Amino acid sequence: MNEESLDLLFQAGKIATRVKERAYGLVREGVRLIEICEAVEMMIESEGGKPAFPCNVCVDEVAAHYSPPPNDPSIVPPNALVKVDMGVHLEGYIVDTAITVSLSREKQPLVLAAEEALRAAVKLIRAGTRLGEIGATIQHTIQKAGFKPVRNLTGHEISRYNLHGGVSIPNVALPDPRRVVKGAVYAIEPFTCPMKAAGEVVNSDTSTIFRLDVRKIPTAKLKPDEKALVEYIERGFRGLPYSPRWLSASNVPDPLSLHERLARTGRVHKYPVLVEKTRQPVAQAECTVYVDEDGCRVLT
Ligand code: MN
Ligand code: MN
Repeated sequence: MNEESLDLLFQAGKIATRVKERAYGLVREGVRLIEICEAVEMMIESEGGKPAFPCNVCVDEVAAHYSPPPNDPSIVPPNALVKVDMGVHLEGYIVDTAITVSLSREKQPLVLAAEEALRAAVKLIRAGTRLGEIGATIQHTIQKAGFKPVRNLTGHEISRYNLHGGVSIPNVALPDPRRVVKGAVYAIEPFTCPMKAAGEVVNSDTSTIFRLDVRKIPTAKLKPDEKALVEYIERGFRGLPYSPRWLSASNVPDPLSLHERLARTGRVHKYPVLVEKTRQPVAQAECTVYVDEDGCRVLT
């Protein structure tokens, strides 16, 4: 990355850090999830950034990929463990970061363990670190705290306009011989759950986040209104994940039912909501790092 790209990436990191700090105060019992999510997305825009994906607000056993759909009436229940996961980009240079707020004293140690595992992992990251070693450190830190990592959720390399562009960063010890590379950007994101949990997420049957793969969509076969919506998605989100909430700004009539049809017929990619297999609560901590000559720089 040249100096200009790095500058955009670091700026995105500063925006995400400021928004993340303010997100803690949004999570209270009884607040609508959509209120939290829209406030985060609005803060990102008012700071001059763009959301790199729809803000995720995941409660308890919902581990990832839930962004409130349009008019979602869901609220933060009592004693909830609430994960707020946000992405910011400037001209495609993306950072990805998350917090967990525990409204229950009992679940708070899950949050602390995830944060501790994240700190331990970040300390290790420099050019040449084996990916398996990062996973092992995350797993051991979480187990020492008396919890379990979620083994099938991972961190990931990030590239321009590509949130999962490259290698995955495991949250468990794996014999992965690949190494951290200088100049790369990684999101590190340990997830914790109680010992009695399966430590695994499964797909639920709903999706709230979507992505358009322009290369896979035969635009010639689309009806004119479908084509207009696809073009809006392509221009607006450039292959990044989006929420149907964001489609009302298009000039296409009835974009929601139109989008539902595109999703049903497999014309857009769906991200199923991921739920802990044994319905146990999950906490998450996440930051984005840039690997430089001295180790790594934490951007969020
Ligand atoms: Mn994230
Ligand atoms: Mn991530």
